[in-house]
Amino acid sequence: MNAALELFRIHNKPMLIAGPCGAESMQQLQELIVPLKTIPAFKLLRAGVWKPRTRPNGFQGHGEIALTWLKELKDQYKVPIAVEVASPMHVEQALKFNMDVLWIGARTTVNPFYVQDIVNALSGIDIPVMIKNPVHADVKLWIGALERFLNSGKTNLAAIHRGFYSYASSGYRNSPLWSVALEFKTYFPDIPMYADTSHMAGKRQWIAELSQQAFNLGYQGLMLETHPQPECALSDADQQLTPNDVIAMWNQLEFRTAVSTASDHLQTLRKCIDERDKLIIEQLAHRLKFVDEIADLKKDLGLTIFQLERWKELLHTRSVWAAELGLRQEFIEKLCQLIHDESIQLQQQRWNSNNTTNSF
Ligand code: PEP
Ligand code: MN
Repeated sequence: MNAALELFRIHNKPMLIAGPCGAESMQQLQELIVPLKTIPAFKLLRAGVWKPRTRPNGFQGHGEIALTWLKELKDQYKVPIAVEVASPMHVEQALKFNMDVLWIGARTTVNPFYVQDIVNALSGIDIPVMIKNPVHADVKLWIGALERFLNSGKTNLAAIHRGFYSYASSGYRNSPLWSVALEFKTYFPDIPMYADTSHMAGKRQWIAELSQQAFNLGYQGLMLETHPQPECALSDADQQLTPNDVIAMWNQLEFRTAVSTASDHLQTLRKCIDERDKLIIEQLAHRLKFVDEIADLKKDLGLTIFQLERWKELLHTRSVWAAELGLRQEFIEKLCQLIHDESIQLQQQRWNSNNTTNSF
């Protein structure tokens, strides 16, 4: 099988996509490819040829000349190469220079018009495509982009989770928001998911911990940015690793298989969890049974549905009980918020349905 195509199947082994943020020179690419090829998991070189930069004075990529270097590199070192495409013109150029894989960047996934233009430009062309998550945490946009490719008959697809822009400072350049990517994964279980921990971290010192987290969650592999002299990189200098750092990090990472293997002990533990979850749901249903009566009573007493003092007291007591049992404060607050929201919604429904009945 073409090495690049292995990236588009779910395996019990991790895969590595690595390369510079931007292709800067033939020499830069050669200095990278030699050490990268010593990593058995390295299957695909990534390199930006057109760089989507926030400000116009940044390095925008070398365009066609960079494609000539990549073509030469591919022929000389027999390595499959991926480039980012953001328009039909990019697609045409990338195909002209025999690139093996295309990827859709975060700034393109945000716009269904751009995605559809690329899908149309690829009509009838069998080339694997990797789709990054959109800049912001809208999982439907990401799902929609995948669907556009699937609807056009493409099957060699992979997803790349590169984190999400967030106003709240998490320290990372793009917050991982793992749960959003896991929602996407639940929707497309057969699409391999890679983590671009370079763009998540924004700083090289955080890449290793994020990469291990990705493997702990069952990601198929990583997309990493690497540069022979990261501090001199023309783009994303803070988040690129030297190839030697990539090798050292890769050897430290523990890959975990996402495919469930039969284990009696795991089955027993899951059974315990299932029983507890059933109890939780029964208790929740029981709790919510009181809501209608409370709603009626509040109405009779002329009270509002939302009672701030009661809410504060509820949060406080539950946090104390939870802390005594070693549960995290943040977790219990979120849980209380969910239950409380449901209770408020049910009370509103109760009042509304009573109004409707009265008005007839
Ligand atoms: C990139 O991979 O070089 C890139 C521009 O990433 P993103 O689309 O994730 O910002
Ligand atoms: Mn980059």
